[in-house]
Amino acid sequence: MDKYEILKKYYGYDEFRDGQEALIDALVSGQDVCGIMPTGAGKSVCYQIPALLSDSVTLVISPLISLMKDQVRALNQMGVHAAYLNSSLTFPQYRKALALAKEGRYRIIYVAPERLLTEEFQDFAANTSIFMVAVDEAHCVSQWGQDFRPSYLKIPDFIAGLPKRPVLGAFTATATREVREDIIRMLSLQNPHLTITGFDRKNLYFEVRHDKDKYRGIRDYLLSHPDSSGIIYCATRKNVEEVCDRLLADGFCATRYHAGLSDDERRANQEAFTYDERPVMVATNAFGMGIDKSNVRFVLHYNMPKNMESYYQEAGRAGRDGAKADCILFYSGQDVITNQFFIEQNRENDELTGQALELVRQRDRERLKKMTFYCHTADCLRDYMLRYFGEYGSNFCGNCSNCLHEFETVDISQIANDMIGCIISSGMRFGVNVILDALRGGKGEKVLRFCFDRNRYYGSQAGQTVVFLRQVLNFLVLNDYLVVTDDQYPIVKVREKGLSFFSESGEFRPVLTMKAAKKAPPAPKPEKTSQKHGSSPQAGSAPFEELRKLRTEIARAEHVPPYIVFSDKTLEAMCVLLPQTKEEMLTVHGVGDLKYQKYGERFLALCKKLSKPDPF
Ligand code: ADP
Ligand code: ZN
Repeated sequence: MDKYEILKKYYGYDEFRDGQEALIDALVSGQDVCGIMPTGAGKSVCYQIPALLSDSVTLVISPLISLMKDQVRALNQMGVHAAYLNSSLTFPQYRKALALAKEGRYRIIYVAPERLLTEEFQDFAANTSIFMVAVDEAHCVSQWGQDFRPSYLKIPDFIAGLPKRPVLGAFTATATREVREDIIRMLSLQNPHLTITGFDRKNLYFEVRHDKDKYRGIRDYLLSHPDSSGIIYCATRKNVEEVCDRLLADGFCATRYHAGLSDDERRANQEAFTYDERPVMVATNAFGMGIDKSNVRFVLHYNMPKNMESYYQEAGRAGRDGAKADCILFYSGQDVITNQFFIEQNRENDELTGQALELVRQRDRERLKKMTFYCHTADCLRDYMLRYFGEYGSNFCGNCSNCLHEFETVDISQIANDMIGCIISSGMRFGVNVILDALRGGKGEKVLRFCFDRNRYYGSQAGQTVVFLRQVLNFLVLNDYLVVTDDQYPIVKVREKGLSFFSESGEFRPVLTMKAAKKAPPAPKPEKTSQKHGSSPQAGSAPFEELRKLRTEIARAEHVPPYIVFSDKTLEAMCVLLPQTKEEMLTVHGVGDLKYQKYGERFLALCKKLSKPDPF
């Protein structure tokens, strides 16, 4: 079997996502890799497929017990023999699993980092042919990140002690350069193939709301999305208790999670949420590490988090299955004050004193400010976020509250013409900043040195903000009018399309329009959203509910969470296609051979029934 056949047969997917193939190919050819992909992008496939293509064993090092369990369960469901070794096993269970591993029963073994250097495990590793070691959550090796785990530092010793060096793969969703360099250095990756995929998650809808009564906003949202499962994040335990109590009193099937609850209650509540028994989870940020529930349809923030990193991480838990999901932040000025208070009181790291502590606070205040701007910007929210993480978006995503409500179409013909004119007349040898400065009639050093003040386009767009001119420039680049070179000092040049658009006299131009944020600050948002962004037209329809019922039945009988049987996205596809034959069923996204053998017939029978016209 090749990688495409495995993807289809075991996972039921037709094509690879961004970045997956290159990582798989490198690992298969024996080259180390470092894969940096956002949550939900599909990192596990990148090491599982090479593992399935090899005859030897793959070890996956992961710090998250619940994630390990979930992945192993999913693999076994697909017919792949896999096991995990971590502290959730009793010692006899652990020994048994190792004994089976020694017999060669498992193709993929998930192991917690602190197990690596134990005697039993080393004995196993020394006598087993290991093809690959995949390090999940690889940022835990870096002291720069928030999740540093000293046990990760043992990984290189473990590898060095093996009779033969396996190929190494490191995977994480943390993108900063420091962390990336640390991963490569600390894990001693050799000439690694590096893949960084974009941070954009197109299926997520972003919205900021300024409701006076936040609870009511949340309640109304839940009322209009009755069958969806999701998380409501609050800043404090007290808020969690309050919101959860009110939701329960209003008849919603909610549960709660925060660090003040007993271990048992936390575990039980998480389980109730995972299994869709209590589809609404109200939680502090303590709820997060290791949630691998793929059908989270919404993440609502009752309070604004302290920075964009936290927000994107928490919101990113929505829609991991790739189907549409909502990320809505309910903002109030009080959240800024609460966060400021937390920053000034910060005693998290008592090794920090004096100047160092002040520096950390300074940085935290800065990050809080950026988070607050997010709640007030009239720009595309997605674009704002991507810019924050160092990527360029397209100014207009069409799938955030600002794009849908705060944007207008503006005529940028004159601006584009002046911009192109300025670039041409200065010989296409300057960078973006110089050109924008010249158009605004600025007095920057380069502008004056190169006599832009004598250029006929100098100051021609003096009334515009730099931000807006930059958006126009981005737009022209994205639409092939301009190009920014890839050099050390990038230069803007005019392309064919730009040349033919340009008119020296400024007459007879075709009109060029762009979507741009309205100039006025966003008006207070309406209290209710009537559109159901998070659900597709299928979700909630009668056939969809029938399919869901069958899924729930099977999940109950097999004691697995429903999304392990089929994801929401698969059910939606099934609902649209209503397949009538096995072949048709196998074309549905997420239905592979093995899943078909298990559940195919039952779903097929139901689809046939559903496609019959209603006799009444
Ligand atoms: P990550 O570890 O990067 O957060 P996962 O490996 O858990 O993400 O994958 C997220 C979801 O995407 C899973 O439900 C997975 O089955 C699905 N997925 C992975 N690869 C593909 C693909 N090529 N096509 C469709 N879905 C995919
Ligand atoms: Zn947008």
